[in-house]
Amino acid sequence: MNYLDQDTIVALATPNGTGAIGVIRLSGPDAIAIANSVFKGKNLTMQATHTIHFGTINDGELVLDEVLASIFIGPRSYTKENVVEISCHGSNYIIQSIIKLLIKQGARSAKPGEFTMRAFLNGQFDLSQAEAVADLIASDSKASQQVALQQLRGGYSTELQVLREQLVHFASMIELELDFSEEDVEFANRAQLKQLIHDLTRVIGKLIQSFELGNAVKQGINTVIAGRPNAGKSTLLNALLNEERAIVSHIAGTTRDTIEETLNINGINFRLIDTAGIREATDAIEQIGVQKTMEKISQSALLLYVFDVENLLPEELKQDIESLYKPGMPTLIVANKIDLANTAINKYLLILPEEAKLVAISAKEKLHIDELKQLIYDTTIQGRLNGNETLVTNIRHLEALQKTEQALIKTLQGIDMQVTSDFLAMDIKQALHYLGEITGAVTTDDLLDNIFSKFCIGK
Ligand code: GDP
Repeated sequence: MNYLDQDTIVALATPNGTGAIGVIRLSGPDAIAIANSVFKGKNLTMQATHTIHFGTINDGELVLDEVLASIFIGPRSYTKENVVEISCHGSNYIIQSIIKLLIKQGARSAKPGEFTMRAFLNGQFDLSQAEAVADLIASDSKASQQVALQQLRGGYSTELQVLREQLVHFASMIELELDFSEEDVEFANRAQLKQLIHDLTRVIGKLIQSFELGNAVKQGINTVIAGRPNAGKSTLLNALLNEERAIVSHIAGTTRDTIEETLNINGINFRLIDTAGIREATDAIEQIGVQKTMEKISQSALLLYVFDVENLLPEELKQDIESLYKPGMPTLIVANKIDLANTAINKYLLILPEEAKLVAISAKEKLHIDELKQLIYDTTIQGRLNGNETLVTNIRHLEALQKTEQALIKTLQGIDMQVTSDFLAMDIKQALHYLGEITGAVTTDDLLDNIFSKFCIGK
């Protein structure tokens, strides 16, 4: 497939379905001429770039709609090609009729992500930035939007690009040594090369580490709510969400399956998973629920263990915590129903692991729910997100970074073992290859297909 053809492509840029307006986007060398062939009111081919024009779209004698046409003359456009955006009324019928008409006049339907792919291939931005466009469109919280925007504006690609260029320089020096292999010369200073590789591995190591948080910010933080039947898990879920979603019941063990809801705290999405109660299973369905609880806990980043202060002995709490608690896993112990409690909750504190935090609430009376929310945020995010750090959120980038790191480590080992230039050149090339995959300095058709096929048509 020829990735940069000369076709003029067309697609609806706004969502399918009826809206107030629909925006149809055309991009390619003939975009303005094709739009002009069906536009009545002005000659669009005579207009300046970044101007907008009122007129009608006509199929022969038939007027299809009154529209606004925005003109962007390449390279001053998203794709760097000529672009026309036709804003028409949002009827599905009108939109489809106009698109059909534009295709009849010589445009072809755009493939998924083709506008953004053209922008990338024409040098508007690098590959990681193109991917950030998709992330930005998909962002559903302040934090995920900020991270995507940061990446769109250059993010780590600028830093990686500079280091990559230095590595390219060393690679060419080492290639040169190969030409003079008889004479035993060293064009590439080994100490400097080692220093550069150290710098690179430091930057890459930091980026690899940032993925855990980056992924949490992008996908939401899995938070599991566990506890014995009737502890008040469903009531707590409702209190946190401020809605009557989960089924609350007096009969122990009625929250059979898991329920997932999204709670936004300070711009971060927490995916709350309410589970069936933990206790000795009495029937088969309950058994599945218990198993699910354990499974969900192992997939989560935060455990909210809820217990009923009126009905749980410290020894029982200890038992539960011992079976659920994973060292290192952020855990909040939620003492519920304090509106009923006659006794102080201090007795529970003594038996908890040191790093576990205890918080006393009433889910039903909505007491201390805001404090609990803040604690959920602090336990997982606080201090780790200050708004301008670089986070890797893309699994493709993570894999490329890991492979680059491995190749760099091999290169370092090679230098230390004084291997010959040809081996060194091979390892550096590997590192360059993977590093280049992130920004798109190295691309294959498969890679581009894989990335852009996940975009929607019209992006
Ligand atoms: P789950 O089985 O853990 O999901 O428990 P539910 O949320 O279904 O609650 C079990 C019972 O405890 C219901 O009757 C709730 O109304 C009640 N309950 C939950 N939280 C509180 C609370 O903070 N105070 C009081 N007094 N009752 C509560």
